[in-house]
Amino acid sequence: MKKNTKGVDHRKIKNILDKNKAKIELSMKACAHCSMCAESCFLFQARNKDPRYMPSYKFLKTLGVIYKKKGKVDRVTLEEMKPILWKRCVLCTRCYCPMGIDIPYLIRTARSICRSQDVYYRYDEDA
Ligand code: SF4
Ligand code: SF4
Repeated sequence: MKKNTKGVDHRKIKNILDKNKAKIELSMKACAHCSMCAESCFLFQARNKDPRYMPSYKFLKTLGVIYKKKGKVDRVTLEEMKPILWKRCVLCTRCYCPMGIDIPYLIRTARSICRSQDVYYRYDEDA
């Protein structure tokens, strides 16, 4: 499949970040890296507890990176997030965080940012 090599519209990313700023900021600050959410993720369990499937890993390595860089990420970075966001999470909403972090919401927000730049899995791709 041909890769999209266009630049990135940082304004669109910034708009999504701004709309969700309060919740993203709170979540990033609240995460205690305790790994408790991992126990409730069936994909983490099914992949022999591979740390890359931990819910916290999934949002920190995607939205967390975009947020820290204030949306100034390049296309390669977004493309690298694609498998994390679509292959390692099915948005089943079963993950539990004692700090009240809404992990599926954070993954969804990261997906929206990727989609705003035409980065997403298509029907003819292996998702
Ligand atoms: S359970 Fe909550 S606080 Fe602990 S690592 Fe997961 S997201 Fe972070
Ligand atoms: S929403 Fe994603 S991270 Fe949470 S339990 Fe389901 S697959 Fe795991």
